Amino acid sequence: MAKLNSRFGSNYMSKNNPRILISDLCEVLEEYMSKSQVEGVYQAYIIAATAHDGQYRKSGEAYVFHPLSVAMILAEFKLDYYCIVAALLHDCIEDTLVTYDEIKYDFGDEIAHIVEGVSKLTDLEFHDAADKQAQNFRKLFLAMSDDMRVILIKLADRLHNMRTLGSMARAKQLRIAKETSEIHAPIARRLGLNSIRVELDNLCFAIIHPFRHKVLVSQIKKQCGNRSKVIKHIQGALENRLGEEGMAKVEIHGRRKQPCSIYKKMKVKQLKFAQVLDMYAFRVVVDSVAECYQTLGVIHNLYKPLPGKFKDYVALPKSNGYQSLHTILFGPNNIMIEVQIRSKDMHFVSEYGIAAHWHYKSENNDNNAELASNWLGSLLDIQQQSGTSIEFLENAKTDLSPSEVFVFTPDGDIIQLPYKSTVLDFAYMVHTNIGEHTFKARVDQILAPISTVLRSGQTVRIITDEDTHPQASWLQIATTAKARSAIKSYLKSQSSSSLIQLGRYLLDNACEYLHVEIEKISTEKWADCLKSLSCQSKEEMFLRIGLGEVLVSVVLNQLQCDGDHCLIENIKVSDTQSKAINCAQCCYPIPGDQVVGLLTSSKGMVLHRSDCTNFMHIKHKNSQWLGVDWQTKENEEFEVKILIDVNNQRGTLASIANCMAKQGVNIENIEVNERDNYLKSLGLVIAVTNTEQLALVIEQLTALDFVQDVKRF
Ligand code: MN
Repeated sequence: MAKLNSRFGSNYMSKNNPRILISDLCEVLEEYMSKSQVEGVYQAYIIAATAHDGQYRKSGEAYVFHPLSVAMILAEFKLDYYCIVAALLHDCIEDTLVTYDEIKYDFGDEIAHIVEGVSKLTDLEFHDAADKQAQNFRKLFLAMSDDMRVILIKLADRLHNMRTLGSMARAKQLRIAKETSEIHAPIARRLGLNSIRVELDNLCFAIIHPFRHKVLVSQIKKQCGNRSKVIKHIQGALENRLGEEGMAKVEIHGRRKQPCSIYKKMKVKQLKFAQVLDMYAFRVVVDSVAECYQTLGVIHNLYKPLPGKFKDYVALPKSNGYQSLHTILFGPNNIMIEVQIRSKDMHFVSEYGIAAHWHYKSENNDNNAELASNWLGSLLDIQQQSGTSIEFLENAKTDLSPSEVFVFTPDGDIIQLPYKSTVLDFAYMVHTNIGEHTFKARVDQILAPISTVLRSGQTVRIITDEDTHPQASWLQIATTAKARSAIKSYLKSQSSSSLIQLGRYLLDNACEYLHVEIEKISTEKWADCLKSLSCQSKEEMFLRIGLGEVLVSVVLNQLQCDGDHCLIENIKVSDTQSKAINCAQCCYPIPGDQVVGLLTSSKGMVLHRSDCTNFMHIKHKNSQWLGVDWQTKENEEFEVKILIDVNNQRGTLASIANCMAKQGVNIENIEVNERDNYLKSLGLVIAVTNTEQLALVIEQLTALDFVQDVKRF
């Protein structure tokens, strides 16, 4: 070990960066790890030291001191073996010849996976400092790590880099500090990693506002000397009173304010330095929740509380799980005393945050592991009780099952999507116009179909095509609400445009029959018509005709009627071959009958006999029918149904068929109903040209001796 250390050149060391040796790390680990695990950590160190051999940091220090320091930061959180080994190897895949497979071979899947996760995060580059981007970037960070230990290593990595930022150029220092204060410090806060968060905040503050930092530090130093007497006095008073009340075992600490938090307080509350530092801060740690409130009572009895300043974060924990009672008191000589009261469990959580979850499980601190899982569980409770969105919890959840993915646009903007979103979802998320013309995409430069499921960290470039439009099948591809509703509304607008076409067609057709020249209808007439139908536009009217909500005849009446006098006459129908005209199957109208035309949206005009019972019913429901003047081409035949009662004897059907054939009439269909032993009832559908021919047919049939009765259906 000594031999290795001696090779690591430079004597660079600083207050922020005391040189950590592997022996120091092992010493800390021995407190909570088994001997064989410490041995494994040492092996990892040898591999890292060998791999990074010849690499130096900007400070001139041998590179391996960096992973060693990162591991040390995490060891202070008592993180598990896997996390510490991964921390030692965290820059190996990225910066050395060591591969994922080698790590997997030496240390197993879990550690290789964590190291790879850290490397992936290292690849990310933070582009934009806009607030929303920073927020997304934080989420990306969390979403890309399926193991929270990746984040813990990344935060420790950043902390050590911040501690050693002094040797960088000013511009780079500023950039890294800014990134840290926008990404890493808030993540540390979310995850409840207080000590890391406080240190990151202060390091950033020192770099971003060097002058203010310097002034504050010297002021704090100056004040400290004067204050120690007061602090001792108050602490003594608190201890005495609590002892009298039977709580002798409480821990009371005077808390030192950090320059960064003082500065924030000055800024937010518009206070002067003296005002902020007038505050004396204490922390009381007790055994149980009940004792928290008991202590509060005792303290409020000792010193008068400042009204409106009491905060109960025990009953209503902060979003990162932080619990404490906060109060401010009027102390002796009118000095203000800030007191935090919490139980040991709460203190553990406030110190360790999510790291507690991976807190090394040994016989001694089983309790802690249990506590951590209780804590995660209680976060769930908090969320359910308060109903507020707890970002931390969402983030913590990404650890277990990622519910979101974060992908980049070609410009480096981050788009947040639900888990299992596709290229098509991404396109719609960027813009509906892009979504509607999505043809395919390049995902990390590789061509991909629109159904490709995206993963966090990918860069997606959409390839659009003017001729591509949403299709019903896209609904199977899109998962986001935004994409799906846009696709649905497009499809709906498409179908409504075909309904508009249908409505226009129906009206045009009807006008043709009526010989109404639609072009000649005045604007005033149209306006009246639209108004009486409560339609905003002709399109809306056509749509409603197409939907069957407005009847063409109503429109025609509106357009044609002049006051009470309707100008509509019987329309002339001649082309019954066209699909737009159909004869009703209920009454079998034939030329020569009195007929009416019923306009329908599905079958065009349907002709009925004017005495048809079906038609009588329909007529009452709507007025969209017109008198028809039926003119046919020569020899055009129409079906008609006749009912014949005959004596029940053999050969009747043959005789009837014979009779029909003689007159050149085709029988299309025959129904036979035997009424009794003597009478048969026949229903015949025959084809005739008009009523005259039908009359002749009926006459001939009646003449047959076995026929009792003939009538038209
Ligand atoms: Mn690193």
